[in-house]
Amino acid sequence: MPACVPWLTSQLCYRMARFSDLLGVSGEVGASGPGAGRYREGMSSLAPGPSTEGCGLRVLWDERLTSYDFGPGHPMNPVRVELAMALARELGVLTAPGVTVERFDAADDALLRLVHDEEYIAAVRHAGQTGLAEERHGLGTADNPVFLGMHEAAALVAGASVAGARAVWTGETPHAANIAGGLHHALAGAASGFCVYNDPAVAIAWLLENGAERVAYVDVDVHHGDGVQAAFYDDPRVLTISLHETPRTLFPGTGFPSETGGPGAHGTAVNVALPPGTGDAAWLRAFDAVVPAALRAFRPQILVTQHGADAHALDPLAHLLLTVDGQRTAYAALHRLAHEVAGGRWLATGGGGYELVQVVPRAWTHLLAEAAGRPLDPAAETPADWRELVRGRTDEVAPRRMTDGSATVEFRRWETGYDPANPVDQAILATRRAAFPELGLDPLET
Ligand SMILES: [Zn+2]
Ligand SMILES: [Zn+2]
Repeated sequence: MPACVPWLTSQLCYRMARFSDLLGVSGEVGASGPGAGRYREGMSSLAPGPSTEGCGLRVLWDERLTSYDFGPGHPMNPVRVELAMALARELGVLTAPGVTVERFDAADDALLRLVHDEEYIAAVRHAGQTGLAEERHGLGTADNPVFLGMHEAAALVAGASVAGARAVWTGETPHAANIAGGLHHALAGAASGFCVYNDPAVAIAWLLENGAERVAYVDVDVHHGDGVQAAFYDDPRVLTISLHETPRTLFPGTGFPSETGGPGAHGTAVNVALPPGTGDAAWLRAFDAVVPAALRAFRPQILVTQHGADAHALDPLAHLLLTVDGQRTAYAALHRLAHEVAGGRWLATGGGGYELVQVVPRAWTHLLAEAAGRPLDPAAETPADWRELVRGRTDEVAPRRMTDGSATVEFRRWETGYDPANPVDQAILATRRAAFPELGLDPLET
């Protein structure tokens, strides 16, 4: 385990940084508290939008995706996607009307080269054949240990996301999902933060190659979507929006509100950097204050989303305090936005998430059910057969219900006013001040 002072260079270091050490905050940083009197009205939930009932969903999946495996002891254990798919299957999500589960081809080199350097692809292939580190390319580090077949496994993940993008773009299905994808940290020439090939970036690049003129990417992983942002930082055709724990306390150390896009693309990167301790209500308030307005201003033709489940309170690598109920509320909001702003074209990917049993399977089962237009009753029990499977595969006790306790998550909308002394409102304001003028929006409008 590397020393933890440079905690912005490794995802693994965070396990050693206790939440309470970071800012001395021990509870939720919410929109209540001392400034609450400034708000003009009470709580609300996210506004309903166009109907999202009974949508078509193509799930890109086969067992080969579990070969993306850094080995024993690594936090990104593929059992998380195995258990998520098993839970979705047991609850009938994968056999619902309009839902298909399909295989796909691995991304070939020509596809990977849309984002990655040829030399890096060769290095990944070499490392995966020999087991030898290529540290120049981030391979063989504590975060990204080399494993045999690494190139093939990572190319499969990228292939699944491209297959989803293609199916949505050509109109074969309105929505597609690759829960093994969302490897948003991979850079053009280096692996980073457990990510070898950047499947969302490759999928977006494929869309641009095939005629898309405006693609929006929204990343709700607790970590900044740095690799996707970097791939399109100077490209006005791609809007990237990332909500994450502040880079002051979390890997990868980027994602400040001041990162708004390169020359010719100002306003096409939007970063919401939230303080440790942010919980459901404050997180949803931030989402609602930034994401819908930015998407409406950009008018994408297709929405690509990354659903890292590591903003959950139980995640061992980060310090936000969301629940599964806050997460599914955000998934529903993104689904409605896909219909409202992107003609219903939506590709959803997984992402981080290191609470393998209590969090990831339920979060992504909710995601798939939402994308199918058939959201699950949060009060539903998890099937006994699935709990049995969990016990056998992990020796852990599975969660009994699909909820963490809240049927509806309410929050105070930005429109009701803000409190300049509240740390979450400060974060929202910083983002709106930095990015909104470039999008033709008023940062202070409520
Ligand atoms: Zn839909
Ligand atoms: Zn993450």
